[in-house]
Amino acid sequence: SRQFTRPLNDLANQWNTMLSAMAGAERVFHIIDEPIEAADEQEAIALGTMKGHVAFHNVSFAYQDGHPILHHISFEATPGETIAFVGPTGAGKSTIIGLLCRFYEPSSGLIRMDGRPARSIRRDNLRSHMAFVLQDPFLFEGTIRENIRYGKLDASDEEVEEAAKQANAHSFIMRLKGGYGAKLKPDGGGISQGQKQLIAIARAILADPTILVLDEATSSIDTVTEIKIQEALQRLMKGRTSFVIAHRLNTIQTADRIIVLQDGEVTESGTHDELLLQDGFYSKLVNGQVVLT
Ligand code: ADP
Repeated sequence: SRQFTRPLNDLANQWNTMLSAMAGAERVFHIIDEPIEAADEQEAIALGTMKGHVAFHNVSFAYQDGHPILHHISFEATPGETIAFVGPTGAGKSTIIGLLCRFYEPSSGLIRMDGRPARSIRRDNLRSHMAFVLQDPFLFEGTIRENIRYGKLDASDEEVEEAAKQANAHSFIMRLKGGYGAKLKPDGGGISQGQKQLIAIARAILADPTILVLDEATSSIDTVTEIKIQEALQRLMKGRTSFVIAHRLNTIQTADRIIVLQDGEVTESGTHDELLLQDGFYSKLVNGQVVLT
């Protein structure tokens, strides 16, 4: 399938730092460049369940004072919807995701989750309702089983295996010497990029989140594995609110809403058909008149 953007390689460290900060993993993993996270509001609450309604209202953000990166971003995802972010490298897609999981707080504007200001929900609780499938998945030195179980630490072996089956990972795992007990090298070495993705999907299925964040792989993955990944992702995304940093036309086309970001602004928003009619950046992209770097 067609690729629009290059991998967001420079973000891998940031994502891993963020992931390490989640699920209490800071006790396990050494955190480099630990971000300074604003303290939760004293009266912040924990939600037992979430519906997955997410809205950005006029959100602006600057990493450094005087250098705004996002300008008045507004969009809404109703529970179960898939939102695809499309735009050139540096447009602000990852920053939006960082705000979504409260890695950062808006400089102005408001993010609402299930109608409540995101700030009023405890950060650890908010993240417990989210899962990530990133193009460079966070895998650690340990067995395949341990790496999948990371999505739900008290999962039984049966649950781990069921998640792997749902993720189309079971058959390749069974072919490994040691099966689920096969040890991954540091950084998940020893399996292919596509297989790493399948592990990450199995982990997310096990986590059973309300909200999903996908950073689509752009790197070369063989066609057979790619089909397995797409099928597993469809299963994973069903019924969940999903935010996709999208690179593939296929994924983008089937999203409920496409948000085109350029220089920190939403320049177009709508379905594939709607955006094609607008004859703007998106239609140029689809027609090959614009190539993202
Ligand atoms: P995208 O995901 O669309 O490629 P990013 O959200 O990563 O875009 O980046 C948006 C802008 O913010 C870019 O100009 C980038 O250089 C800048 N940026 C990203 N992360 C940081 C950071 N930690 N500190 C300062 N600037 C950053």
